[in-house]
Amino acid sequence: LRQIEADIKMTSEHRGRVESEKIRNKLFIDGSFVHSTSGETMPVVNPHDNTVLTEVSVANEADIDRAVQCAAGAFERWRRVAAADRGRILLRLADLIEQNSEELARLEALDTGHPIRDTRNLDVPRTAACFRYFGGMADKFQGETIPVEMGFLNYTLREPLGVIGQIVPWNFPLMFTSWKMAPALAAGNTIVIKPSELTPLSSLLIAELMSEAGVPAGVVNVVPGLGSVAGRHLAEHSGVAKLAFTGSTITGQSIVQASASNLKKVQLELGGKGPNIVFGDADLSAAINGSAWAIFHNQGQACIAGSRLLLQETIAEEFLDRFVGLARSIRIGNPLDPETEMGPLTSSHHQQRVLQYTEIARGEGADIICGGKQPSSVALAQGCYVEPTIARVKSQQSRVIQEEVFGPFVTVQTFKSDREALELANGTQYGLGSGLWTRDLKRAHAFAHDLHAGMVWINSYKRVNPGSPFGGVGRSGYGREMGFDAMLEYTQSKSVWVNVDADIPAYYRR
Ligand code: NAD
Repeated sequence: LRQIEADIKMTSEHRGRVESEKIRNKLFIDGSFVHSTSGETMPVVNPHDNTVLTEVSVANEADIDRAVQCAAGAFERWRRVAAADRGRILLRLADLIEQNSEELARLEALDTGHPIRDTRNLDVPRTAACFRYFGGMADKFQGETIPVEMGFLNYTLREPLGVIGQIVPWNFPLMFTSWKMAPALAAGNTIVIKPSELTPLSSLLIAELMSEAGVPAGVVNVVPGLGSVAGRHLAEHSGVAKLAFTGSTITGQSIVQASASNLKKVQLELGGKGPNIVFGDADLSAAINGSAWAIFHNQGQACIAGSRLLLQETIAEEFLDRFVGLARSIRIGNPLDPETEMGPLTSSHHQQRVLQYTEIARGEGADIICGGKQPSSVALAQGCYVEPTIARVKSQQSRVIQEEVFGPFVTVQTFKSDREALELANGTQYGLGSGLWTRDLKRAHAFAHDLHAGMVWINSYKRVNPGSPFGGVGRSGYGREMGFDAMLEYTQSKSVWVNVDADIPAYYRR
């Protein structure tokens, strides 16, 4: 234990390269770390104890203008780099991420509150895998020849769009940075990315690694700043060809309005309220474990979290008994402790918001059967911790069923028939992740077909892979990240017609 404590102390004093003179208090524009025009900075807070980790620069409108201008200049060069060479740079970046994995894992745990066992085993490897996948994809993504009328050759070019504005949230800052950057760069676009004001550190470190990997100056620009200033300006900027956004539905709506000025393409990855359905014939042990992971991984701060548990009446009591037991046994603690299974929420503001939902649920007649408060341990008293919370809810119209809580808070409803389960599952305006647990193959595929969702997990939950498309329907947004779909999102087709042997009748007889 003493060794762990010593490790934790050492790590919180040592924040790696982001604390170096080179990176601290800087934006990354045109291949260099530079001061913002205003010189303004903002604190980055460790959610474990609410102490200030470091300060970062705050980009304002002038900084965004500068970044977009550099990205526009770099675009003309980057799009002409051979696709295989762009790919090679991304593959090198993936290697560098692996070589620096411990620094990235610690930084991400400090900044976001993710348990280090997750940042080591999931976030960092997935980030490297994403750059590697799209590095490999760069020279394999191609246009087509189209069988048109005789005498003509028709083919399509898949062309990059130009400068891409990217705005990411605080819940998986490192991984989402890779999901956004990798396909855009592989396709030949250049980037201005704004991380969340709450968690900007890992994307600054990625910028440093990008330079090492050989990404030319101006191709990637990282501009931490406030959403209402830097984010809004990026969304409305006429020099930006596409805005790719991950965040809340309400911000997504304002992005669409801001983007109308130059009709830029918009991609939206928004909120969710994932149904997780357990049928009477399911493997209960697997379903209980998987359902806890579905909601409590990353403290429930996941757009795809399985935040609505739907239980068939025949197994509901046994399931809940064991599920509550598992939830109560989850080890909550300092994210830097390798034994920790659940860390703090990302900010005290968000912690209060999540705790407030417990009160809202109680007010609506819900039965809070587990958690609902900050843990009582003295060691966690200064941090943004919330216990795993389970609420039995009666009405589908309850706010805690319809609104995204984005914390370790799961609602429980029961159902009798498949039809009722589907109605409950599809009974919100969101449609992102969804899951079901059953041994019945026919039922599994029928639900996969009928669920109003962008992703369905059968006898599992929350699987992601760079090759598999990720995105939502309804209020969860539009567009897809990862896989071939992402390359389509970051390119447009140009149709080229060549007269190879056609004798075209003259239109005008002269
Ligand atoms: P948020 O919408 O508050 O902020 C997201 C980003 O947008 C931040 O970088 C923020 O600075 C910026 N922003 C805020 N106001 C802006 C404005 N007016 N114009 C431009 N940019 C602005 O969301 P959050 O609280 O950071 O993240 C949590 C939300 O993100 C949840 O709703 C969650 O479901 C959603 N999310 C969705 C996905 C997905 O893939 N669908 C993934 C993760 C998170």
